Amino acid sequence: MTPALERRWLLDELVSKGVRITTQRRAIVEVIQEAKEHLDAGAVLELARQREPNVDRATVYRTIELLKELRLIDELDLMHLEGEKHYYEVKTMKDHIHLACFRCGRIEEFSSPLFERLKAEISKRSGFNIRVTRLEVGGSCRVCMSGDAAAEQEEKDEKTEAAISG
Ligand SMILES: [Zn+2]
Ligand SMILES: [Zn+2]
Repeated sequence: MTPALERRWLLDELVSKGVRITTQRRAIVEVIQEAKEHLDAGAVLELARQREPNVDRATVYRTIELLKELRLIDELDLMHLEGEKHYYEVKTMKDHIHLACFRCGRIEEFSSPLFERLKAEISKRSGFNIRVTRLEVGGSCRVCMSGDAAAEQEEKDEKTEAAISG
């Protein structure tokens, strides 16, 4: 993983801010910290219960709100690929861009120094103090595009064959 995408360490940051860590809260925070994909609140609840069976929905929502308020996690809608769900992820050292494939639903993460420069330019030229930046790009991923290319080639081959045999 590139250093830009390194995640902030939630439990340490919460403790240093004087937040009391209950067993429920710990389970929820660990799930978000270790997530391999972008999780919505329902998925966080399910995974947290596997660690700590008495985790309840209200605590999941409260913990997510707290983490958002402390700006330790980001909330995303990922181009609404799955309706109105919101997803949560640990803030990385540098902001990253999400590439959402409309065809297979894959979400890729992308970081670039240009994005940092764009934010600096926005602040400088507009005098705007940026708290949150979110950039989502929707389209077709490389895998889906190469599938298209393969399918097109197949079609061409079939036509050639037909022309030869016809
Ligand atoms: Zn795709
Ligand atoms: Zn992400």
